[in-house]
This record gives sequence, C-alpha cells and structure tokens, in this order.
Amino acid sequence: MTSDQSWKEKYLQELESADQREEQWKAERNTLERMLVRTCLASEGQAPELDKLLARVRKDLRKKKVDVEAWRELQEQIDRQVTLLDDQQPARKSLFSWKKKSEPDPEPDPVMADNQAELSGVVSRGDSIDLADNVQRLRIARRVGQLLGQLLSQVSLESGAEAQARTLQQSLLSSNNWDDLREGLNQVADLVISAITRSQREFEAFLQRLDERLQAFQEHFASQSFAQEARVRATELLDQQIRHGIERAGEDVRASNDLGELKTSVSAHLESIGVALDQFRAQETERERELADQLSAMQEKMAAMEAHSEQMQDQIRRERQKAMTDLLTQLPNREAWQERLSFEYNRWQRYQHPLTVGVLDIDLFKRVNDSYGHKAGDRVLQLVARELKERLRNTDFIARYGGEEFVLLFPETSPEDARAVLDQLRSHVGKLPFHFSGEPVTITFSAGLASFAKGDSGESVFDRADRALYQAKDAGRNCVCLESESRV
Ligand code: GH3
Ligand code: MG
Ligand code: MG
Repeated sequence: MTSDQSWKEKYLQELESADQREEQWKAERNTLERMLVRTCLASEGQAPELDKLLARVRKDLRKKKVDVEAWRELQEQIDRQVTLLDDQQPARKSLFSWKKKSEPDPEPDPVMADNQAELSGVVSRGDSIDLADNVQRLRIARRVGQLLGQLLSQVSLESGAEAQARTLQQSLLSSNNWDDLREGLNQVADLVISAITRSQREFEAFLQRLDERLQAFQEHFASQSFAQEARVRATELLDQQIRHGIERAGEDVRASNDLGELKTSVSAHLESIGVALDQFRAQETERERELADQLSAMQEKMAAMEAHSEQMQDQIRRERQKAMTDLLTQLPNREAWQERLSFEYNRWQRYQHPLTVGVLDIDLFKRVNDSYGHKAGDRVLQLVARELKERLRNTDFIARYGGEEFVLLFPETSPEDARAVLDQLRSHVGKLPFHFSGEPVTITFSAGLASFAKGDSGESVFDRADRALYQAKDAGRNCVCLESESRV
C-alpha cells in the first residue's frame, strides 16, 4: 500500500465514522429534545413564573438552532424558580396543617401585631416569596412558641426534654429563618406527643398501683370471711364432738353395771373431749396467727399507699404551682391573678376594707427589643419582675398579665398609699443600671390605679386602672395615674 493510498483510505474511514457520529448525535439530540419537552410538560402547573420559562424552552426547541447564551440565562432563571419552589412546597404543606388546627384565628395578639412589621422586613428580602404567606408562617411559629410556653407551664417533662423545649420555644419566638421554624414545629409535635404519653404513662402506673392495692384489700376481706367460716365450722365440729362424747358417756353410764369399766369408759370419753378441745384451741391459734400476719401485711400496704398518695398530692401541688407561674419571670401568671383577684374581691365584699388594683406597663419596651434583641427584652422583663416582687409587701400581690404588663393588688391600701408605693418602685426601676451592647439603658414604667367602690366587680376596677394607665402614657409615660385623674 502506497502512502497516498493509505492516506486516502484513512480519510474515507474518518469521513465515514464522522458521518456515523453525526447520525448518532442527531438521534441523541432528538431523543433528548423529546425528553425535555415531556419533562417541561410534566413540570407545568407548579408556579406561573416557572410555566412561562418552560414554555420558552419548548418554543426554542422547535427551532433548528439553540442560542446557547440565551439558554444559559434561561437555565439560571429556571434554577432560581425551582429553588423557590423547593423552599415553598414543604412549608405550604405544613402550614396548611397548622393553619387548620389554629382556625379560627386566635384573638388579635398585640405581640404578634407588632412582630408583623419586623417580619415583613425580613420577608421582603426574599424577592418572589409570597409575602403574606411568610408573615402568616412566622405568625404561626410565634403563636406555637407561645402555646409551647403555656404547655411547658402546665406539664412536667423530663429535665432534658424540658431544656430542649425551652430552647425550641426561644427559637420559635425569635427566629425568622423558616427552615429552623419548620424544623421547630415538627419538634413541637414530637414534644407534645411525648408530654401526653408521659402523663398518660404516669396515670396508668398510678391506676395500676391503685388496682393492686384494691385487690390486696379484697383478698384480705375474702380471707377474713373464709377464716370466719372456718371458725364457725370448727366450733360446730367441737360442739358435735363434745355432745357426742357426753352422749356416749351417758349411754355407757346407763348400760354399764361395772364401776371400774364405767370409770375407764367415762375417762376415755373425757379424754377424747379434751383432745377435741386441744385441737380446736390449736387450730384457733393458727387461724389467729394467720390473720395477724395478714393484718400486718395489710398495714404495710396501707402505709405504702398513703406515702404514694402523698407523693401524688405533692406532684399535683407542684403541677398546679407551675400552671400558675409565668415561665419567664417566675411571677404568678394571669390564671393566678384571676384566682387572687376573686379571693380578694370576696374579702372586700365581706369586710369592705380598701382594696386597690394597679396595672403597670413598661415604657417603650418595643424599642428595647428592636434595638438590642428579644433576649435583652426578656432579661429586662426578668429583672424588673424580680425587683418589683422583692420590693412589694408580702400582703401585696403582683402577677405578669402578659407581654410587658404587670398587675398588682394592694389589700387594705387606699389608692393614695398604693400610689406612693408604685412611685417608689418607679423611681427605683428608673435607676436600675441596665447595659446592652455596652450602652447604658434606662427602663421606666407607667401605671394606673383604681380602688374598689360600691357595685364594683373585679373587671370594672381593672378596666378603670387600665384607663388610668393610658392616662399615664398620654401624660408622657414614667408616671402613675389614679383613676379619673390627670397626671400625678
Ligand atoms: P408603651 O410605652 O406605649 O407601652 O410602648 P411599648 O413599646 O412598651 O408598647 P407596645 O405595646 O407597642 O410594645 C410592647 C412590646 O413588648 C412588643 C412586644 O414585642 C414586646 N414583648 C411582649 N412580650 C414579650 C416577651 O415575653 N419578651 C420580649 N422580649 N418582648 C416582649
Ligand atoms: Mg403593653
Ligand atoms: Mg409598654
């Protein structure tokens, strides 16, 4: 083969294989195009924006040639839409189920209303996310955070679970990251289930123990009556044996002529009566012993049961205490307030001694949260609560009514005296050396006071004190107002 020939052959071979390759590419491209069209059709209907992009893909595919540059951009747009969808879809699903549970919407909540603005700020950064949807999701997460707080104040969890729940509650109340929140909501569901199953388990265990004790009682009574029956039977038997012995002895006396024989026979009968009596006595002692044993076992069980019932009562007391205490500040909560108010109201109705109600609200508290974060806000609430509690008289009562509002009851106290107390507290709180992010921060509060008068109910006095609080706010804050009175 000459070099020319070989070159030619090589060239022809190359040409042929190039043709084959082109054919194959065409076939491949055809298949890929068809697959792409089908995929586009199958992906439609997820979001209008995405549908438009997919339609463009299909249109471009009908052309003989694809503009690679334009397609690169198209691809980026599609990627963005798909990421958005990925973010949205699981959220939609869980949102739907939570929303269903919380319908109708909880009563308007000032904390929530305030958070809306903050939340929308966050949402507006994620350009095409449905804003209303996000605000709604975060609202729900906040609401769940609050509900979790209530749940925690009412059930006792194992300490590990409790710590976890607290952290979770914190992130539900403050995080704006939907992924965290979604995960948080799932954890809440697990937690609720574990709390419910735990209390169910405890209750079941209690019932089981109770049942065992009752069974023990029943067995004791059964053996008592069995012992009683045995005693009756033994007495009857003894009676028969003695009667029989005496009758036989009588017959022998009548039938016998021989004194010696008679003596032997009578003493034999007496002996058998003696044996029967001994037997009876022994059996009786045995029965007594068994009963005494049973009785002491019974007493032991009773003592254990009493101890257990005390433990249960203790636990109930603790649970009740927990349900009446605000988790954040450890002050009595709104439930406790209602109970105390109605107690003092009844006393007031009976004795007509002065009784004054105060409503206290931290000034411009939202600014603390906004400037230094929710955690700093929480800390302020804890410290102010502690100071208020420590400085009040033992007979006075303070509770966290909600948010940054506290309510007070001053028994045996005129409104003027209560005002003096509150003014002292106000000046003390105003001087507390708060520091956040290295800045000194002054915290003040405003308060309103009202006293019980003829025809009043707890609610009517509370309303008047609340109105007085608003007068104090209107008057420029950091002051205390008495009902129907301007600035004091
Ligand atoms: P004003 O002087 O009129 O009372 O102004 P304010 O900012 O105190 O009142 P506003 O009712 O506008 O805001 C109350 C704020 O309290 C808004 C809410 O986010 C915050 N807040 C309520 N509960 C809590 C809580 O448990 N922790 C924290 N950190 N903030 C809370
Ligand atoms: Mg308020
Ligand atoms: Mg306030």
